[in-house]
Amino acid sequence: MNKIQNFINGKLVDADASEYTPVYNPATGKQIAQCPMTTVAQVDEAVKGADKAFASWSQTPVIHRTQVMFKLRELLLENLDELATILSTEHGKTHADAKAEIGRGIEVVEFACGMPHHLKGDISVELAKGVDAFNIRQPLGVCAGITPFNFPGMIPLWMAPIAIAAGNTFVLKPAEADPSLPLRMAVLWQQAGLPDGVLQVVNGGKTVVERFIEHPDIAAISFVGSSKVAEIVYKGGTAHGKRVQALGAAKNHAIVMPDADLEFTVNNIVGAAFGAAGERCMALPQVVCIGDSVADKLVAMVKAKMQDLHVGAYDDKKADLGPLYSKSHQQKVNEYIRIGVEEDQAALIVDGRHLRVPGYENGFFVGPTLFDHVKEGMVIHNDEIFGPVLGVMRVSSYDEAVAVINRHPFGNGAVIFTTNGGVARQFVLDIKAGMVGVNVPIPAPSALYSFGGWKSSIFAEHHMYGEEGVRFFTRFKVTTVRWPDSASGSQSALVMPT
Ligand code: NAD
Repeated sequence: MNKIQNFINGKLVDADASEYTPVYNPATGKQIAQCPMTTVAQVDEAVKGADKAFASWSQTPVIHRTQVMFKLRELLLENLDELATILSTEHGKTHADAKAEIGRGIEVVEFACGMPHHLKGDISVELAKGVDAFNIRQPLGVCAGITPFNFPGMIPLWMAPIAIAAGNTFVLKPAEADPSLPLRMAVLWQQAGLPDGVLQVVNGGKTVVERFIEHPDIAAISFVGSSKVAEIVYKGGTAHGKRVQALGAAKNHAIVMPDADLEFTVNNIVGAAFGAAGERCMALPQVVCIGDSVADKLVAMVKAKMQDLHVGAYDDKKADLGPLYSKSHQQKVNEYIRIGVEEDQAALIVDGRHLRVPGYENGFFVGPTLFDHVKEGMVIHNDEIFGPVLGVMRVSSYDEAVAVINRHPFGNGAVIFTTNGGVARQFVLDIKAGMVGVNVPIPAPSALYSFGGWKSSIFAEHHMYGEEGVRFFTRFKVTTVRWPDSASGSQSALVMPT
């Protein structure tokens, strides 16, 4: 059985571990590798190497650091097919979706290529007679990243390029379910010219995370995953004096106004609800229709489109969506569908349980599922299901729809479908969510902006990548300068300088 390694001080090395967790191909249901639960001793070795590398990497001129980013971008593009295959084999998403995911990560690498510009400070000349002031941003030191299973390519690239281009060193702990891609990418970073120790990858679970939280030489932790663990990392990290950014779970809603272009809206909702089998934090699992008339039409049209969706394995070129990432998650999603039926208020229109994919009978598949008449407060409305399950809710007004969304505990993304510019503008102002779409079903911001939610979808107000990412991975310093000339005073001034 293939034993997953670690990447420490510029080399793929065997993990120091006595426990392993299985890595599956979710389409076949077969175990394909073992992920090590790396010991604290080896985590410490990785942090020590990163700490040592920080001394020279942070002193390397930023225009030389960004040369690595330019080269990394080329290597990621050259190897895109291979990287996407590694990703989809362990995660289950389609090859095309895996390529698109890595493409979104590459956009952040491109942003990091501009780090000389992003690190530019301000200067004020002659603030007082002979006095200038300027600010600079400096790297923090060793930063750690902890990433979820659902974007094993993109999310490490949300963090590491910004941290590293800004002059930090970075220790990454990928998710246990799909650890191979981050390791392969670490080798590409090295080929791009990154010095040994600047990027370390240590595989494992809770023990590694707990060590990151406690380790005295880790300055900052960047986390993406469930809200439960985001809160643990946020509270633990800040209690240990670290800077923490921690992005959590989601339940994104879309309002469909009576004036929406329904054909366009339905196409977008189907893609956003069922793409990647719903395992996206910016998926669209909940629609709120204004009025029964629009809801009746929308449900009929969504149902019809769902019949055309092809569920298949990672290597099936015709597949629109693949399996869920694990057997236990498949069981969990099926259980949510059962609860939805039992709650007896919602109507199950399309049932994706018991889907059989010929040749892949042991895969972790759940077919696209549709509930109508979902009510606020039902379990299938409250919880993040993280599967291909779409709920439709019916309300009588825009105000009621906004109130439902704003009362929900999660506030990652929210969308409105409308042809009325005034309503759309008001929605942007009214809605309590970090990322908002107007006729855009997955408003995951481009790399020029920053990614992050509100409410229980985030702990600490640090969003990922873009300018927020630069701020997170750097520390601000302001300097006031005076060069005395012969005319300067020769006496001490004991009042506050003005
Ligand atoms: P998860 O929280 O189970 O795991 C995330 C990371 O935390 C993994 O590396 C895992 O090893 C580690 N971990 C798990 N349990 C831990 C514990 N008890 N103590 C310490 N560390 C622990 O999340 P997941 O299932 O891998 O990912 C899916 C979740 O991530 C969903 O809730 C999804 O919404 C969320 N997510 C959010 C965003 C966002 O940007 N807000 C993006 C992607 C995924």
